[in-house]
Amino acid sequence: MAKKQFKAESKRLLDLMINSIYTHKEIFLRELISNASDAIDKIYYKALTDPSLSFNQADYYIKISVDKGKRLLTISDTGIGMTKEELDDNLGVIAKSGSFNFKKEHEIKDGFDIIGQFGVGFYSAFMVADTVTVISKALGSDEAYKWESNGSDGYTIVPHHKDVVGTDIILKLRANTDDENYDEYLQEYRLKALVKKYSDFIRYPIKMDVTVRKPKEGSDSEYEEYQEEQIINSMVPLWKKNKNELTQEDYDNFYTEKHFGFDKPLRHLHVSVEGTTSYNAILYIPEKIPYDFYTKDYEKGLALYAKGVLIMEKCPDLLPDYFSFVKGMVDSDDLSLNISREILQHDRQLKIIAKSIKSKIKNELLSMLKKERDKYEVFFKAFGRQLKYGVYSDFGQHKEDLQDLLLFYSSKEKKLVTLAEYLDRMPAEQKYIYYAAGESIERLEKLPQTELVADKDYEILYFTDDVDEFAIKMLMNYKEKEFKSVSSADLDLGEDTETKKETAEEQELFDYMKNVLGDKVKIVRASKRLKNHPVCLTNEGDLSIEMEKILSTMPNNHNIKAEKVLEINTNHDVFHALKSAYENDKDKLKLYTNLLYNQALLIEGLPVSDPVEFTNNICSLMK
Ligand code: ADP
Repeated sequence: MAKKQFKAESKRLLDLMINSIYTHKEIFLRELISNASDAIDKIYYKALTDPSLSFNQADYYIKISVDKGKRLLTISDTGIGMTKEELDDNLGVIAKSGSFNFKKEHEIKDGFDIIGQFGVGFYSAFMVADTVTVISKALGSDEAYKWESNGSDGYTIVPHHKDVVGTDIILKLRANTDDENYDEYLQEYRLKALVKKYSDFIRYPIKMDVTVRKPKEGSDSEYEEYQEEQIINSMVPLWKKNKNELTQEDYDNFYTEKHFGFDKPLRHLHVSVEGTTSYNAILYIPEKIPYDFYTKDYEKGLALYAKGVLIMEKCPDLLPDYFSFVKGMVDSDDLSLNISREILQHDRQLKIIAKSIKSKIKNELLSMLKKERDKYEVFFKAFGRQLKYGVYSDFGQHKEDLQDLLLFYSSKEKKLVTLAEYLDRMPAEQKYIYYAAGESIERLEKLPQTELVADKDYEILYFTDDVDEFAIKMLMNYKEKEFKSVSSADLDLGEDTETKKETAEEQELFDYMKNVLGDKVKIVRASKRLKNHPVCLTNEGDLSIEMEKILSTMPNNHNIKAEKVLEINTNHDVFHALKSAYENDKDKLKLYTNLLYNQALLIEGLPVSDPVEFTNNICSLMK
């Protein structure tokens, strides 16, 4: 019979598994048990919500059995099973897990991280087995099928006999090598220990035939040994356990087991709320950005359980968008099992839970910021942008909730600071929270517009994320202190800089220059913010030049332009050159004006409008 080929990506992963010298091969058992448990979740849920199906608690279990002679290890479940098509689809290609996309983006070497951190699901079986056989009968189907593969050269699917609905995964263990003893996966004690370590909290019984040794009846010297089926996991879901009994490792294992992420979470929160609406939740703040996080493919949400039964894998209504990075699960006895997705959205209990979760997350982040600043900065570098979107979105209605979670780079501290820290340090006479927006910290450090503010020894927050300025415009002020861009029309730095007013002559010159530039600028004027640089561009009105740049990259941008102001430093030699050109040589003045304007564009990180003309102008100056 012709073998079917694995899809290219799957083959790569499979090769990785087969050739793996990874030292924690044992995780294959966790992966297979987790799949079995998911499959039972699906059928259990159906049975509870579909009256036509009979329901018997004892029908749902996982069984581990060994055949030492044949070196077979079998993991059976009474879950929902797979049809022929599902065997083909699910086991022939990598499931949606996205591990490989992630790998491509992050260039993980030699697959160790993939295996260790991602949990690669079904294929991990190939780390310990040279042949993997899957016999499955799907719910509602009369036939069963056998899927079999002994490596990356393909797989077969043939009809097979199976009485009950569910799946058997049969591993033909590899022969022992000098380094690797695969026999251990046939040992009772080893299998028991692995279940305890990784799968203890699986909600369904994990059964195994265990050897029992007992004194023979009527004798105290003779023993009899026999096999007895035992349940080897505690079956209490992690979230129902007492926090004090759990270790960090338990939470980390749960995170991996549930495939919440590929990283080690930065923080976990174990929440148990009793009240009019009771719920348990385990929430995680990841360390790394999921590869698709800032794309539209990313789905936020928490796994939702009602009375311990999974009813939805990703319930989006439990998380606000600005906390969409949070992973985890919620279980409530107050939710109905029969609830549909549509009704769920409007469910009162769910809303109460969502609200409570929101404030738990916020408090956790605040406490992390306070007590574990380094960790918080790792978090913020990954997900801070999402918080800033949160400030900006929904017309700013969440800004109060989020403002104390924000960090910005400080010109003085040379590190990330909170708004509260900025305020604390602010001299009494300083009226505003100053900021500068631009591409990078290096560029902002050299931005001419910051000269006088920095000269006053005021701290400037550097905005380098495209969302920063939009978020701040939404925030407007923090504890009654307004934000002010170093590029805004009126810096309001105190009298010494206010007094400068153009003379009539200067005004004439500037008007002339404005005419030369036409619509490109709204006005040309003497600068109140420059010290060493000859020119800069600033803006009037609400839309800054930075914002214009960002908007111009968006679809439907309607070509919105900032009202640009060309500012000239009247203390600079260049200004004297301008004056003399105005008096003696108008053509030269035109040339200078265009040159200065283009220089200002370059400093802002904007393209010069006509590069050829610009270089010609420079050349003509050199002649
Ligand atoms: P993942 O569990 O991340 O989806 P896997 O490679 O482990 O990836 O499994 C692929 C798919 O195969 C699962 O999503 C599931 O649909 C199906 N599957 C695996 N094991 C079982 C099982 N024991 N019973 C039913 N379906 C299963």
